[in-house]
Amino acid sequence: MAYRAEYLWIDGSSPTPEIRSKTKILDDGAEPGIWGYDGSSTNQAPGDQSDVVLKPVFQCPDPIRGGNDILVMCETFDPKDMSPLPTNTRAKAREVFEKYSDQEPWFGLEQEYTMIDVTTGWPAGFPQGGFPGPQGPYYCGVGAVKIHGRDIIEEHTTLCMEAGLAISGTNAEVMPGQWEFQIGPVDTLAVGDHMWVARYLLFRMGEKYNLEITLDAKPMKGDWNGAGMHTNFSTTAMREGYDAIITAAEALGKEGMVEKHLAGYGVGIEDRLTGEHETQRFDTFSYGVSDRGASVRIPWQVEQDKQGYIEDRRPNANADPYVVAGLITDTCCSALAD
Ligand code: ADP
Ligand code: MN
Ligand code: MN
Ligand code: MN
Repeated sequence: MAYRAEYLWIDGSSPTPEIRSKTKILDDGAEPGIWGYDGSSTNQAPGDQSDVVLKPVFQCPDPIRGGNDILVMCETFDPKDMSPLPTNTRAKAREVFEKYSDQEPWFGLEQEYTMIDVTTGWPAGFPQGGFPGPQGPYYCGVGAVKIHGRDIIEEHTTLCMEAGLAISGTNAEVMPGQWEFQIGPVDTLAVGDHMWVARYLLFRMGEKYNLEITLDAKPMKGDWNGAGMHTNFSTTAMREGYDAIITAAEALGKEGMVEKHLAGYGVGIEDRLTGEHETQRFDTFSYGVSDRGASVRIPWQVEQDKQGYIEDRRPNANADPYVVAGLITDTCCSALAD
């Protein structure tokens, strides 16, 4: 029987690129090949040269449709010369990964996000026109007054598992209506592939539950936590010794590197990295053991074991995982290669 392939790609939305998708029906036994779309409708091409080429790079079962149906993550190319589009951030990550794959970089991303009630426009759990009690009881909380939207995260987690994605955990976050799931540890490219597919599945569940999922880095101004994408990183050397842990942490703070990284860590970084709410200020770099007010945290267990990974706490929830993983691979692996 014929089956369906849902082709996914990153668009040209500004300032934050978004995921788009469309469906192709394939004959039984046929492979999902090169396809295309109208780039003039996604802010990626002019109307008179609108075709964009889609090239499949990662596929997995489609757990929403089930059966033989699949999801297909794609890179985007200009048909004129088959060069990657400027928005094809995976192509840049691919180059960096090819250069440093011998160091076996691994990433674990903590994706925070907020559920917005489409009728009130407020985060789920915020009473209409008012505020819930202050932060404190919500993080990893249990119970109807504290917790909103658990059905959707339970279903999303099951879908990620059925798709074979490297989902490694979930938790309720500090602000009501805010949640997190983690992807990893997997390599520089796989973490982006799995994260974008997991985001797609999450947005699809938002359609079903009539909740808008936002990756906005600071959805509520004031005394409410923002939403980040903490990025945990290691290489073979870091997983085997503490000197490499320190080398990697210091490489991220080197002259010029702080600005370069922040530019790729998502829209509204200054609004979230205020020095409050478990962040370091955007204009200050620091690293420390167990320090959730540092830019980069070395988990206590890693200091204890003298090996493991570091956590870059700066990336925003709305950052592109291909960009973040590419930057960290480039900066840290080049320092470790010296
Ligand atoms: P936090 O205490 O900051 O909330 P989490 O448990 O949410 O931490 O996330 C930790 C992440 O670190 C997970 O995604 C996990 O897969 C990842 N991780 C664990 N070990 C490594 C490693 N050696 N290299 C990279 N990532 C790792
Ligand atoms: Mn976490
Ligand atoms: Mn978190
Ligand atoms: Mn974290």
